[in-house]
Order: sequence, then structure tokens, then C-alpha cells
Amino acid sequence: SAAVAAATEEPIQPPVDVKYTQLFINGDFVDAASGKTFPTVDPRTSEVIARVAEGDSEDIDRAVAAARRAFDEGPWPRMTAYERCRVLLRFADLIEQHAEEIAALETWDSGKTLEQTAGSEVPMVARYMRYYAGWADKIHGLVVPADGPHHVQVLHEPIGVAGQIIPWNFPLLMFAWKVGPALACGNAVVLKTAEQTPLSALFVASLLQEAGLPEGVLNVVSGFGPTAGAALSSHMGVDKLAFTGSTGTGKIVLELAARSNLKPVTLELGGKSPFIVMDDADVDQAVELAHRALFFNQGQCCCAGSRTFVHESVYDEFVEKAKARALKRVVGDPFRSGVEQGPQIDGEQFKKILRYVQSGVDSGATLVAGGDRSGSRGFYIQPTVFADVEDEMKIAQEEIFGPVQSILRFSTVEEVVRRSNASPYGLAAGVFTRRLDAANTLARALKVGSVWLNCYDVFDAAIPFGGYKMSGVGREKGAYSLRNYLQTKAVVSPIKDAAW
Ligand code: NAD
Repeated sequence: SAAVAAATEEPIQPPVDVKYTQLFINGDFVDAASGKTFPTVDPRTSEVIARVAEGDSEDIDRAVAAARRAFDEGPWPRMTAYERCRVLLRFADLIEQHAEEIAALETWDSGKTLEQTAGSEVPMVARYMRYYAGWADKIHGLVVPADGPHHVQVLHEPIGVAGQIIPWNFPLLMFAWKVGPALACGNAVVLKTAEQTPLSALFVASLLQEAGLPEGVLNVVSGFGPTAGAALSSHMGVDKLAFTGSTGTGKIVLELAARSNLKPVTLELGGKSPFIVMDDADVDQAVELAHRALFFNQGQCCCAGSRTFVHESVYDEFVEKAKARALKRVVGDPFRSGVEQGPQIDGEQFKKILRYVQSGVDSGATLVAGGDRSGSRGFYIQPTVFADVEDEMKIAQEEIFGPVQSILRFSTVEEVVRRSNASPYGLAAGVFTRRLDAANTLARALKVGSVWLNCYDVFDAAIPFGGYKMSGVGREKGAYSLRNYLQTKAVVSPIKDAAW
């Protein structure tokens, strides 16, 4: 098939060199204190792209010390908000000037298609930075009425040093979601990237410095979770922690934060999001949208529409067409144009996904497309579709994080609400219908942080995003994200003069 041919051809030489492999601390690129490095791997071939400095607790200490100095003594929280705004705007311009290089680096390190990184993600990073730049000089306090003769002001101050831990599925976008609001509010940051994808954040850190960010305000430490990530989560010098990744690791970092200095924590975690196709749906459109909701980014999305609920009256037609669509999906070198799906991030995820596929078969779901690796090299997986999936099957309950669509059957709105909500997760949901009443009922009844009606994965900078239940704590993006990075101070003074 087209898929196998594309995945076995010679890999395209990425049109970029790796410039930065050291840690970025206090405005300098430096080796890890231990001198250790680790390989970052090309998921197309499993070959090493570069060796990267491996940050550990000592490097986290150095980075936090730099961030503390930058926050406690440096110019960043003290300069005018407009000056901070302009640094972020210059950064957005630099991202656009270097867009091709950044996109190629991101594709090389992560396996995302170049069409996605160059066409959408890098432009979105610039857009997000401009969005947050716009907030920098619009963060103001309140004067509130109180009983009695008191003048009461509420000040919103930056919270201090923010520790941020990001995953590998959207390395640059997660950088923007985290660093954008933190800097707009005047904080300093220590960011730990995912060990699978350290390269793009180091590159853009150099651009932020070029844009005029003072030294120490942003520090980027590459390294592993149980070492660098845990050290950051439990650091006494960190005032706030933001994490995106799996629910299991989210619990660990929350506990580390609690056991150290009770730093507030926001969490963006996993999901098992329903995509609901009602009986009145245009089946062709619904199939296409459900396909994208699941297969986008190789299925590696926290909000992937990974439980496709289809009304019984259109179920058989939907399954046939979903199968045909998956078989047409173009898998191959993410640098090649026209390719829709690149490799999975690494061997661990690749094996885990294939284990889930086996579990689907073993539990009695009907495998209608895919089910195996694609090609013989790298981490490519065939677009896979299961029909006749039941709620109690593992593939309907756990986050697969791969290109595996599970199609379930339902008959009433009440039933699909109950089954959708019967999950420890509550990140997102899609609803496909022309009926306003059904759309409104579902939008209110679903216990999730985002409902996409007749659309999916709309990620405008101004829209808040986050989870109910075990999908997370707090919201990112939009005005809501600022709350995570601000302290609230009440200032009270008596009004003595009767003349007022
Ligand atoms: P993970 O949650 O372990 O990794 C996310 C980040 O946390 C990485 O930077 C990692 O280094 C760090 N980390 C890991 N252990 C840590 C610890 N003890 N203390 C502090 N930081 C730590 O995710 P993973 O292992 O890369 O992927 C496993 C599964 O997580 C995936 O299969 C997928 O289901 C899920 N996942 C979800 C998201 C999401 O956006 N919701 C993103 C990535 C992975």
C-alpha cells in the first residue's frame, strides 16, 4: 500500500543543522554539571540526531538560582509592562524569521509532518506569543468596596519563579502555552523539556535572548523526569509549577510540590475523549472529522477523540467509510509533502501502541484496518480502526496515544452522555449533529473542559483549555492562563478624612 511504500523509502535529509545541545542557564549555553549527555533520536530511523546535555538536580539548582536572581533582583519584573510586551513581540517576529529552521528541527526531533509544523504549529507559536504580549500591559488590579471607611486595592503581582515541565507531543506549542503567560506576567521560568524532544526549545530560547529577554529570566534544562523533573517539582526556590503529560506523572509532581513548599500546581493530563456522531449527521463529513480528531499528530494528543461513539442508525455506513479513510491515510517521511502521518515518537510508545492493538483483538473488537507497524524501520504504525468496541475493553478506557480509532455504538442521547462521562478523564469532547437541541444538551451534560460542536481541535490562543476530573487542574490559554502566574494582594488603608 501507499503507506508501506512511503515508510520504507530513504529518509529525506532534514534541511537544518542542530545548533544548540547544551543547557540554557542564566543566558548561556552550558554543559551539565555532571558532564553527562543523552541521545535524541530521529523517530523515522531510530538513529541519533545529536547528544544533548543531560540536566540533573545540580543543574536545576543552578537554573533556579539564576531565575531567582532574575526575579528577585533583575530588571524583568521591574521594567514597564510595555517593555515586556515589546520583548515578546520581537520574539514572535524572530520566530517567523526563523520559521523554516524551527519547523524542520521540530519535525526531525518529533516525527510530526513538516506540513503541520511549518504550516500550523510554528505560526501558532508566534500567534500565541503575540497574544500574551498583548496581555502584558493589560494586567491591572481592582479597587473593591468594603464595609466601613477603608480604601481597598487588590494588586496582581507576578508569582515569582515558575517551574514548567512539558511533554514531547507538542514541544513548541507547550513551550508557548507555558512560557508566554509566565513571562507576560513578569515571572522568571525554569523549563524542563521532554527527553524525547529537547531541540526546538533550546533554539527558541536563543531567540528570546536575542529579542532582549534579560539573562536568567528563561532557563531551559533538558533531561529526564525522575531526575531533573522531580528536582524541579520539589525545589524550595520554585514558586509555581505547571505540568503537561500523563496523569500518573501529574500525581507524582503534585505530591512532590506538596511535600516541598506547597507551590501551586496546574496540570494538563491525559484524556479519553468522546467524539459523538448523532443520527442526523452527514456521514461523510462526520467520518472525516472523527478521523482527524483521532489521527492528528499520529494520535499523540491528550485530547484525541479516542472514543468514536456512532449512533446505531448510521453505524455500519460510518464504519465502512472510516475504514476506507484510514486505508487512504498517507503514512511516510514527515518531511515529504502530502504525508499525513509520520512515525510515533519513540520505540517505547511504538511498542505500547502495538500492545494495545493486540489487546483490542484479544478482547473481541473487530479490527477493520491496520493493526501492524508500517514499513520495517523507525516507529511508523498503520492507521488502525476497531469496530464493535465495548466500554469495558482496555482500548475504550485507557489512553493509547497512537493512531488507533475505536468505534462504539449507541442509541440514545441519555445513553451516550452516561457512557461518555463514565471515565476518570474529562478533557474534551466532539459532537457532530445538525440538531441544536442535541448539541446544547450534550454541551452541558458532558463533564469535559472543551466541547467542540461540529469541529475539533480548535486551539485559538484566546480559548481556555484544561480538564475536568483526572484530566487536570486549572486552565491554560486565554485570560484564564494569567491567573496561574499571578499573586493576589489586598492592600487596605483607612479613610480618616471625613471630607471625602
Ligand atoms: P510523562 O508524563 O512521563 O512525561 C511528561 C513530562 O514529565 C516529561 O518532561 C518527563 O520528563 C516528565 N517527567 C516524567 N517523570 C517525572 C517525574 N517523576 N517527575 C517530574 N517530571 C517527570 O509522559 P511519557 O512517559 O512521555 O508518556 C507516557 C504516556 O503519557 C503517553 O503514552 C501518553 O499516554 C501520556 N502523555 C500525555 C500527554 C498529554 O499531553 N496529556 C503528553 C505526553 C504523554
